[in-house]
Amino acid sequence: MALLARPGANILLPRPGFPIYELSASFRQVEVRHYDLLSEKGWEVDLDAIEALADQNTVALVIINPGNPCGNVYSYHQLEKIAETAKRLGTVVIADEVYGHLAFGANPFVPMGIFGSTVPVITLGSLSKRWIVPGWRLGWFVTNDPCGTFRKPKVVERIKKYFDLLGGPATFIQAAVPRIIKQTEEVFFKKTVEILKYTSEICCKKIEDIPCIFCPCRPEGSMAMMVKLNLSLLEGISDDIDFSFKLAKEESVIILPGTAVGLKDWLRITFAVDPSALAEGMDRIQCFCQRHAKKQ
Ligand SMILES: *Cc1c(COP(=O)(O)O)cnc(C)c1O
Repeated sequence: MALLARPGANILLPRPGFPIYELSASFRQVEVRHYDLLSEKGWEVDLDAIEALADQNTVALVIINPGNPCGNVYSYHQLEKIAETAKRLGTVVIADEVYGHLAFGANPFVPMGIFGSTVPVITLGSLSKRWIVPGWRLGWFVTNDPCGTFRKPKVVERIKKYFDLLGGPATFIQAAVPRIIKQTEEVFFKKTVEILKYTSEICCKKIEDIPCIFCPCRPEGSMAMMVKLNLSLLEGISDDIDFSFKLAKEESVIILPGTAVGLKDWLRITFAVDPSALAEGMDRIQCFCQRHAKKQ
């Protein structure tokens, strides 16, 4: 964000999305413009909205794939259309692939970088999710840019300058990176994806039994999903935030109100939880909903 910021700049962010983008944009005085992810179309990007929102001051289009918070995975075709749209608008794509390779549905994970010759792509990666060390705060960015937009000396200079400014993660974590990248065995990744597929199924199955919660599309990747809350079936619950607070207080189950990721009266549920604890948590959500159900 520091690299892209300039007076009047705006950035296109998904809604629902990952709130740190709003935070860092406002810190750099970059105007945020939201485009919707379409729940009725498997959380596809609303390309018409992107066309309508962008102007000559748009510095980047952010996509998150696999998606947090929606758990969607974009097809090759969808990514291609995103690349073509960004090219037409003359903006770079920031592809947040922190959940890269964590896909377990019909669509395989396709890295946005393969469209680098259509549009310059900045890919963000991290150890946090694929290696399951959230909190280590160690990530990277990769430019996929065969046409050389980022390789102009001035741009390289700017990038380097910002790396000098930023405080990196602890040195012993940095020192471990080469071994982590080289020596993590394939079976570790395979097992992670299998577990996530399994826990996402536990989640989806249970949601079918809870009338006031609706899941428009099953997650196919990442560690989270979005479900819609039907408040008309509940008594004494005013909105998603009220729901989440009361659920935490009465059942000690933590889910994120959709408002936190830009969608009011939705809920974000993470299924990166031990299977038995997840099943227990979902049972408690069901109890909570039964207890607060509107009497007929
Ligand atoms: C967790 C996450 C990040 C941040 O990763 P860290 O390396 O842990 O800071 C970025 N983007 C998305 C979508 C995430 O879920």
